[in-house]
Amino acid sequence: MGMITINGTKIRELRKSKEMSIKALADELGKSSSTIGMYERGERSPNFETLFRLAHFFSVDVDYFFNEMDVMSENYELLSDEYAHYKKQVLERSKGICELCGNNAPFHVDGQPYLEFFVLETKQEHLSPTEKMVAVCPNCLKKLQILKLPGEIIFLKNKARNN
Ligand SMILES: [Zn+2]
Repeated sequence: MGMITINGTKIRELRKSKEMSIKALADELGKSSSTIGMYERGERSPNFETLFRLAHFFSVDVDYFFNEMDVMSENYELLSDEYAHYKKQVLERSKGICELCGNNAPFHVDGQPYLEFFVLETKQEHLSPTEKMVAVCPNCLKKLQILKLPGEIIFLKNKARNN
């Protein structure tokens, strides 16, 4: 296994979410501040040992630091009007059942099961919006946004595409 390339901005985001200085993170890892700065700017990648320590420290999966499994935490498309009818289609597809955990929607609004929507980031541009979108319960939405577990993302991508 050669060089590993990670997305350094993820380290910066996590560090800032903990309101930590570069120095504080450097001390935590036993590295210099300039090394952490280089990681964050993508000028240098940590070795696996450091990567695992970072993942453990920030309570994220190691995969979180890699670009391939990237997931948008903000689905801006969902705010647009044109997505309203796609949401309706995806909600119909889900039959009111969370497409991740398989539980029923936690409550109903105006007689409709309440589920949240999540757009899966993909490089396959030929997919229609409904093939990239899933309906999930609020718990699963938060889980997707925070943990970004690759296994769950792949599961949902298959589900959205094959329905
Ligand atoms: Zn769920």
